[in-house]
Amino acid sequence: MNDPIVDCIIVGGGPAGLTAALYLARFRRSTIVIDDGHSRASLIPIVRNLAGFEGGINGNELLVKMRRQIECYDVPVVEGRVTTIRETDGRFLVQYGSNSDSSSRSLFARRALLACGIRDRLPPIDEAVRLTQRGLLRFCAICDGFEAQGKRIAMLGPASRALSHALFFRTFCQHVAVIASDLDALTQQERALAAEQAIDLIANGTLELPNSTEAPLRVASRNGHRHAFDAIYPVLGCLAQTDLLSEFDVQRDSDGMIVTDKDQRTSEDGLYAAGDAVNSLNQICVAVGEAAIASMAIHRSLPANPL
Ligand SMILES: Cc1cc2nc3c(=O)[nH]c(=O)nc-3n(C[C@H](O)[C@H](O)[C@H](O)COP(=O)(O)OP(=O)(O)OC[C@H]3O[C@@H](n4cnc5c(N)ncnc54)[C@H](O)[C@@H]3O)c2cc1C
Repeated sequence: MNDPIVDCIIVGGGPAGLTAALYLARFRRSTIVIDDGHSRASLIPIVRNLAGFEGGINGNELLVKMRRQIECYDVPVVEGRVTTIRETDGRFLVQYGSNSDSSSRSLFARRALLACGIRDRLPPIDEAVRLTQRGLLRFCAICDGFEAQGKRIAMLGPASRALSHALFFRTFCQHVAVIASDLDALTQQERALAAEQAIDLIANGTLELPNSTEAPLRVASRNGHRHAFDAIYPVLGCLAQTDLLSEFDVQRDSDGMIVTDKDQRTSEDGLYAAGDAVNSLNQICVAVGEAAIASMAIHRSLPANPL
């Protein structure tokens, strides 16, 4: 019972968590951010669809700027991992490990915000993270499809899902292919659609790493043909980072993402969620917007600040 108590614990220090920290600090709420350093934003070579950054901004630079902004409000940002959150007597008992000294600590929080994002499933190649940071592996047509115009692009993943992404990609470019190990799973109709849209179907394939920072990525198909691409979009799905919810009966959708109401409240009293962890459009401006809404709701739900 001697553990410190804060108004709100924020799990995750990506765009959602850092925005919530900013808002809550400005509402004069005591807040702590705990982040284990795997923000999807850290993989982004350059964000071009965030209003206000006309030349774009590198994802890590954006995170640094966001962190610096909350430093002015003395919000502690702990590098570590929250291991459990448990409800006890109307508040949350949070256990976390800190990277700095490998210690395990706990605190009480009146409210909790899950801004813990998702993890993309990367293709099983050693350099997947580096290739992503160089923009050769990409994950989001909404984010960078515009820049793919005139480029040779492939979707890598289960055939049907890869084809559906490839069809979306025809908005941007002519040279679109599907690389899949299960092309046999495609229906006649899907094959006809691929042919009509001139989408190449490539059986299996082994990615070859470029030995410089330049494209192309080379892929050998099962029949020995070699194909070159400027970028490959793995469509292998993602993992919700929701292991913390094991203590709760929080409503989730069929993808495992957290369901919230319009104020970002989960089905558990006092527990909120924002950003990619919630099944919405996985975009920075959405994560930031949801964090602002959650912060307002959290502030309103707490007793008035002491004068
Ligand atoms: C390659 C790539 C390119 C992208 N390009 C764009 C783009 O151009 N424009 C755009 O708008 N969006 C883009 N996105 C999407 C964007 O990165 C995400 O929408 C955004 O980062 C979501 O923010 P978030 O705070 O919800 O989650 P994240 O940024 O993923 O942050 C979640 C944080 O929570 C931490 N965490 C998870 N569990 C725990 C735990 N138990 N304890 C402590 N910490 C925990 C994680 O380590 C992580 O640091 C891109 C994504 C990728 C992968």
